Order: sequence, then C-alpha cells, then structure tokens
Amino acid sequence: MNIQPESESLQELWKKRPLIIAGPCSAETEEQIIETAVQLAETKRIDIFRAGIWKPRTRPGSFEGIGTKGLAWLVKAKQLTGLPMTVEIATAKQVEDALHFGIDVLWIGARTSVNPISMQDIADSLRGVNIPVLIKNPINPDLELWTGAVERIAKAGIKNIGLVHRGFSVYGNTYYRYAPMWHLAIEMKRRNPELLMLCDPAHISGRTDILHEVAQKAIDLDYDGIMIESHCNPEAAWTDKKQQVKPNELVELLDSIIWRREKVDENTFNSSLEKLREQINQIDDEILQLLGQRMKIAEQIGANKKENKVTILQPSRWNEIYEKTVQQAEALGISREFIVKYLDAVHEESINKQNAVMNS
Ligand code: PEP
Ligand code: MN
Repeated sequence: MNIQPESESLQELWKKRPLIIAGPCSAETEEQIIETAVQLAETKRIDIFRAGIWKPRTRPGSFEGIGTKGLAWLVKAKQLTGLPMTVEIATAKQVEDALHFGIDVLWIGARTSVNPISMQDIADSLRGVNIPVLIKNPINPDLELWTGAVERIAKAGIKNIGLVHRGFSVYGNTYYRYAPMWHLAIEMKRRNPELLMLCDPAHISGRTDILHEVAQKAIDLDYDGIMIESHCNPEAAWTDKKQQVKPNELVELLDSIIWRREKVDENTFNSSLEKLREQINQIDDEILQLLGQRMKIAEQIGANKKENKVTILQPSRWNEIYEKTVQQAEALGISREFIVKYLDAVHEESINKQNAVMNS
C-alpha cells in the first residue's frame, strides 16, 4: 500500500492554475499510451496524464478496458515523460492495483460516484493512504449524491479532493452528450470552495467542435482547470473516438481559451454577480427546453383526443393541476398571483397547440 506522504511536487502541482489533465479515454496498447504520453509531454502544456484502465461501459460486449496490464504501460510512460499519472478506479481491488503500480492520482467516474455502496467500499480501501482523489459528478443531477461521495472520501482521511464536472445524463438527443447544467456545478463549488474544481469538456460535449465553448465557459466560471481526452490517433480510438483530440489540436484548443482568473479585489462583486446571472441564464434555458417538451406532449394529447373524439378542455383535470401547482408554488415562496398568471399562459398555449392538431 502507498502510505508514503504525497510528494511535495504533487502537492505543489495540485495548487497550479489552470491545472490541465489530458490523455486518452482508454489505454488500448502500449504503443498508443507511450505515443500519446510523449506527444502530450512535448507540448509542455499538461500537468497530469490520464487513461482509463477499467472502463465502465453502459452495454456489455464493448471494450471494457485493458485491465491491470495497462498500469505497467503507465509506469513506463511516467518514466519516459515525468508526467504524473491518473486512472479511474471503481472498486477496492482497482484501488489496490493502482496503488501497487504507484499511480499518482485516482479518479472516480460518474457511474461510481452515483453509488454510495461503491463509494464507501472505495473510501474504506483508501483509509490511511495519501493520494489525491478526483470525484466526477454522478450521472444524474443530484448534488446530495455528489456531496455524499465527497464526504465519504474525506472521512477516509484523503486531504486533496477535486471535483470534476462532466455533465449529467438526460433522455433523448441533445446538443451536448451530457447536459452541463452549469448551475449545479456552480452550486457544488459554492458549497465546497476549498475543493479543486475541474471541467471535463470532452464528456460534456461528446464531440470536438464544441470543446472550446464548453472549456471557455468553465474558465469564465472560474474553474481551476480542465480534464480532457487526447489520443494520438482519435479516429482509431477504441472508446469515445468522437470527443478526443490529437495532442497538437489540444495545444490549439488551449491557446484559443482566454484564461481568466477571479480577482479578489473590487471585481469580486462583479464576478459573483456574473455567476448568479449565469445560473439564471442556465435555469431560463432549462425552463424553456422543458416548456418546449411540454407543448410537444400537448400536441400528442391533441392527436389522441382527436382520435377518440374527446373534448380539449377537461375541467376536472385542469382543476387538479391548478390546485396542486398553486400549493407547491406557495411552499416554494412563489406568490399565488404569479403562478396563476403562469398557469393560465401555459394552459392557453397548450390549448392552442391541441386545437391546431385537432382541427387540422
Ligand atoms: C472517462 O473519463 O473516460 C469516463 C468514463 O468518464 P465518466 O465517468 O465521466 O463517464
Ligand atoms: Mn471517455
């Protein structure tokens, strides 16, 4: 077990801003790991090399990671480049293997941080160990789960904990692979100002053409750095090929980002105002998306009612929605006056949509 204190250089590195972690989604072959690590090290722009050794895949039958033998390739890559290494761990056994090979930083993926039993198992295996741990947000938008994951690792005695915002699963096709829901990450950062906060633009984007806008947004929101996927030959990658960039493309991306830092002088006010406005913008976006979805469903209901020759307005159903919503709104501190106006507007639009379908 690694009971050595963390090296001073790693502790120093933890404080570097922006902190850049890059590497392939998965370790595939020794050549791919060495080639990618050497090319990334030559850019002199990255601080830590990442690679997935055990891959939590949604469906069985696809490549599920090279396993423990890949750790030896990372040891070699570290010897060649001097870059510290990070891998994803999901079980106590994987923690043990990673520590055995002297991996410098561990990260916990979104499909693990969502599971308190796995998190406790990992935390128990880390008791008495000195290693920085990065915790990705859980796949579903639940800040309590993310917080719980952090608490379990902190209680195990881990001092350097970082958060990685990689977006949240939503049903259906969206612009992003995983919806960023920035306001949630901002709230997590507000609750844990002492923790490092990184953005993973690769998993949020799921493609390379919007990596810049996602990374820039994270930096504008005062994130401490990014964790991103880079592969020496993305087209041939075994996992996540659409979202990986070559090392030289990573340099272009990093060069195109305007690196902002939050000032602690009179600008503090403006910066916190900006963050609040950002939260409002995000929430407005989401409300709009949801309203759009609601109206689409209203159209489907219209088609259904047309087929069954049912009236558009069904007062009992509307009264039920009305009463429930007014009560919920009041409990949330929203005035009756406002919510009644809102409901009437939504209802009117919904009736118009249904009307259009039924009388088309
Ligand atoms: C990864 O970083 O390759 C990964 C599997 O990430 P996530 O847990 O965010 O899906
Ligand atoms: Mn990946």
